[in-house]
Amino acid sequence: MKILVSNDDGYQAYGIRCLAAAMSELGEVVVIAPDRNRSGASNSLTLEVPIRVEQVDDRLYYVNGTPTDCVHIGITGLLDFEPDMVVSGINNGANLGDDTLYSGTVAAAMEGRFLGLPAVAFSLVGHQPSHFETAAELARQLIARLVDDPLPRDSILSVNVPDLPLDEIKGWQATRLGFRHRSEPVVRMNDPRGRPVYWVGPAGEGQDAGPGTDFHAVANGFVSVTPLKIDLTHHTQVRELETWLGPGGP
Ligand code: MN
Repeated sequence: MKILVSNDDGYQAYGIRCLAAAMSELGEVVVIAPDRNRSGASNSLTLEVPIRVEQVDDRLYYVNGTPTDCVHIGITGLLDFEPDMVVSGINNGANLGDDTLYSGTVAAAMEGRFLGLPAVAFSLVGHQPSHFETAAELARQLIARLVDDPLPRDSILSVNVPDLPLDEIKGWQATRLGFRHRSEPVVRMNDPRGRPVYWVGPAGEGQDAGPGTDFHAVANGFVSVTPLKIDLTHHTQVRELETWLGPGGP
């Protein structure tokens, strides 16, 4: 089995090194990851400037692009083989609820959705989480299980691991995404020349965070596993919208 490993925290992040080590127990690993922290890059592709790839060794490449660039390039031409799956992470911080829309970690996994095995994103919950070894061991277990007993090949799983020692993890839970309260206001500051600059504020706390959600699982010591789909259509609103638009032409 050939596993492409990526992330959004950059190729030097501790989380991706732990993940690559865990995956190398299961198959042949190649890491293609951004040259720096690209958290929040979502599914963006770099289209207006060329993308450079630096090869560190035969298993490690870094790219001056986004997580999606990394995986896209990897499976469409950089590698001389097609990986069986993409595994992304281990992200330094949660990807719960609305985070999923902004996450480069999840996006890297999504970009591998056409491969032979499900794509999986791993995130370690917490502000400055420390139990990356816990998440790496759980990643190893989950991917081993996927190989033995595969889910449909277009599956995308977003896994969030509580920041706990392995023996304090209560188990696995299949979850749905909750959602957050509105985020904190943008932080306005002045640069040294008196011009305003802005920092995007922290994400809001969980609002829809009850039983069954990803928020609830990790808050209670469980590993949250959420199956994601790409289709953003709000299917139940299509009919209503059709009525609202009405039959008339312009
Ligand atoms: Mn990140």
